[in-house]
Amino acid sequence: MKRWGLASTGVALALTLAVLAVMGARDPGPTDDVGDLASPLPMAPRATTGSSAAAAPPPTVPMPANPPAWMRRVQPGEKPPQFVLFSFDGAASKPHWDRILPLSREVGAHVTGLLSGVYLVADQDAVAYTGPGHQPGYSSIGFGGSRADVELRIDYLNDAIAAGHEIGTHYNGHYCHGDEPSVGRWNTEQWNRELDQFFAFVERARGEGFKLDPATVRGGRTPCLEGDWGQAFPAMRGHGLVYDTSHVSLGVVWPSVRDGLWEFPMPEVRVPALDRQVVMMDYNLWFALNGAREEPARADDFKQVVLDTYRSVYQAAFNGNRAPVVVGNHFNEWAGGAFSRSVEEFMREVCARPETVCATYTEVIQWMQLQDPGLLAQLRRMPPAMND
Ligand SMILES: [Zn+2]
Repeated sequence: MKRWGLASTGVALALTLAVLAVMGARDPGPTDDVGDLASPLPMAPRATTGSSAAAAPPPTVPMPANPPAWMRRVQPGEKPPQFVLFSFDGAASKPHWDRILPLSREVGAHVTGLLSGVYLVADQDAVAYTGPGHQPGYSSIGFGGSRADVELRIDYLNDAIAAGHEIGTHYNGHYCHGDEPSVGRWNTEQWNRELDQFFAFVERARGEGFKLDPATVRGGRTPCLEGDWGQAFPAMRGHGLVYDTSHVSLGVVWPSVRDGLWEFPMPEVRVPALDRQVVMMDYNLWFALNGAREEPARADDFKQVVLDTYRSVYQAAFNGNRAPVVVGNHFNEWAGGAFSRSVEEFMREVCARPETVCATYTEVIQWMQLQDPGLLAQLRRMPPAMND
């Protein structure tokens, strides 16, 4: 159903980049363009050319009207809070929101739901969507069910928004490698059409009571972490997005501005029980565990392996660079629910810890806006947090 070929290419590339960064060979500036690899090493900060976004100021978001206590400038000698960003692709499943909403309220967490726009479109209205390069009415992940299902979905998404959770985008048709033309082949114009349709579905749902202010949709994760970023980013920026969370980093690193967007990469981490590196996302972990086959009998096992991974990654970041830990999952019951259970258990134990804040992407950007840019630059120069 989901293919990750391009994602693993991205992993290899990210690994190369990250290894170079660890060696101190690269300029730790805000742009991590692949082009840096072609420069002689070691290198001075490169002069900004017309094509470089290095000189552009970071994109900003409005500050909250009633900031929580942790939303303030770090004092001299003080460490940043340890942020944990729980984010859920698809974000349409009622049984999952039914568990996440009370749990997050209990532990003071805000999460980010990355909504697939097609889940706002009833099956009978499927032709309203034409995936760029695809037939009208076709999406890789289906549509929103009956009109009553969509109405109900709008209700519980409204509950999530009212509780302070963030809604971003997982785009619409979810065309991964093999479902061609997949998003990795799209050009800017195709990304524009995809995002136009996402916002049109939001707008239509608003007519049916959806309380999502489109201005608060500020970022997203691409299907299967795929995309030609040089093509995709201009469309994202053009639609007012200020962050992306689809790239992969080796270890946990601070967000940086890439091509005019805040990039919150998905960390590739060590899974202690397997003694190997995996992108810390449910599907990737499942694939590493057993090739992503349904084996409900091993659910408890898998849950523990993933939970131990989360714990050690959190510890490495907490004791290291304090970079935000991005935990990306789907609202799925893969492997007998092992991944949902591990993420929920981790949320329960980690969000209430001292110096720890379970926040949305926007909240972390708001926090970064309050900090001395020198401090942020210093944090970004620290070695990635590695759980070994
Ligand atoms: Zn997805």
